[in-house]
Amino acid sequence: MSDYVAAIDQGTTSTRCMVFDHGGRVVSVDQREHEQIFPRAGWVEHDALEIWENTRAVAAAALGRADLTRNDLAAVGITNQRETALVWDRTTGQPVSHAIVWQDTRTGPICDRLAALGGGADRYRATVGLPLATYFSGPKVRWILDNVDGARERAESGDLVFGTMDTWTLWNMTGGVDGGLHVTDPTNASRTLLMDLDTLQWDEDIAAEMGIPLSMLPEIRSSSEVYGAGRARGPFAGVPIAGILGDQQAATFGQACLAVGEAKNTYGTGNFMLLNTGTTKVQSEHGLLTTVCYKIGEQPTVYALEGSIAVSGSLVQWLRDNLGLISSAAEIEQLAATVEDNGGAYFVPAFSGLYAPYWRADARGAVVGLTRYVNKGHIARAVLEATAYQTREVLEAMNADSGVDLTSLKVDGGMTTNETLMQFQADILGVPVIRPVVSETTALGAAYAAGLAVGFWDSEEEIRTNWAQDRQWDPRMDPQLRDRHYRKWRKAVTRTFDWID
Ligand code: ADP
Repeated sequence: MSDYVAAIDQGTTSTRCMVFDHGGRVVSVDQREHEQIFPRAGWVEHDALEIWENTRAVAAAALGRADLTRNDLAAVGITNQRETALVWDRTTGQPVSHAIVWQDTRTGPICDRLAALGGGADRYRATVGLPLATYFSGPKVRWILDNVDGARERAESGDLVFGTMDTWTLWNMTGGVDGGLHVTDPTNASRTLLMDLDTLQWDEDIAAEMGIPLSMLPEIRSSSEVYGAGRARGPFAGVPIAGILGDQQAATFGQACLAVGEAKNTYGTGNFMLLNTGTTKVQSEHGLLTTVCYKIGEQPTVYALEGSIAVSGSLVQWLRDNLGLISSAAEIEQLAATVEDNGGAYFVPAFSGLYAPYWRADARGAVVGLTRYVNKGHIARAVLEATAYQTREVLEAMNADSGVDLTSLKVDGGMTTNETLMQFQADILGVPVIRPVVSETTALGAAYAAGLAVGFWDSEEEIRTNWAQDRQWDPRMDPQLRDRHYRKWRKAVTRTFDWID
């Protein structure tokens, strides 16, 4: 009897394997961080072979830890950091370069050249739902083909394939060079700038314009179906691999945002708010993305509006690793507690330009409002507050695009353990912030997608029943102070513009 479903969560900073029971409770987990490679300013890379090694290790360890074997698993799901692009040789399994991570800004000139062909940054928006921006994976593939020796020839002769991390993980899990499946799902494909949101197929004209051979692109299957089985020599040997969702869509699913108008915000390396818009593809007029939320088997495609923020938790890491002001991410709360407020300082972390709602590649980070009075406690507060203000900007854009005001916000992700931040978030939004019992909603969402495909869970209704609230933070701030803070923040944001020329 298979009582559990496992999920591989291939995230930006680490790879996890989590095992869940029928109630959606965590039974076992193992996690490994991988190296963040910063070869130059604006570049961020990962070693995909290291990631695959970690994936195998965490899978074996998570099963071992709970004394489980593959026979205990009904299915495995995959969720992943999105947009991170990898090109590898299908006959040797060797990547031609490191993966180019979503935050990487090296494709700025490629995006500019495409925008200059006509239509500007919105050249492909009507088809793909996205503006031309360094964030997305298509231009990263173009960069690799243009800059890695011999890559274009090898790609054109059919030797090289492209994949986001879901595809790399699935390909390896299903056998790699021995018949590995080259497949992705619509949530990941909708982040490439190459997929038509209506047909869920690659747009041949855009691919041609971007200079990417169609033969490199994975097959797009649904987010919940049996793709294949785990390779013979591995922890998941013979287990159906049956779900793929990009991490933010997985969190939306895991948070049971399954009806039109339901939204969640995930606080990780960056922040990502997704609003379920049902089977309607809403085009944003306020700087949000239109993206696939999920496609369960043969059911109609469900879409989402998304507000992506590039830097939130990674600003805390920066305070730890680059300034050494704290020795762990959690320590920021103590440092922030040494002061009453931000002392007038506002920190706009435009490290990768600004994503939603601005989409300014020319922006770079700034701390403004500095006086002799400001100390490291104030900086710590300003770092935490930056996440809350950016979230308010995105929430306002959501309200404007959807025409409905969100009355509460479901949250998850690593930063939601920070009480100071969660209270300040409720204060700045003026609506309650709600955290579920299982905060690992990303892995859970992927497990749900896989479990639904094999009948381990019968319906989405079970997902809803499994969701339970842990904590709620209610707004306490005086509305005048809230407005004053937000006004200052907006002003600070404008100080980051026009830095890169
Ligand atoms: P990801 O899935 O993007 O790798 P996680 O959801 O694991 O991210 O969250 C990790 C992020 O949360 C890191 O960027 C870290 O700096 C931040 N973080 C973790 N704990 C805290 C905390 N107590 N306060 C503030 N930030 C935190």
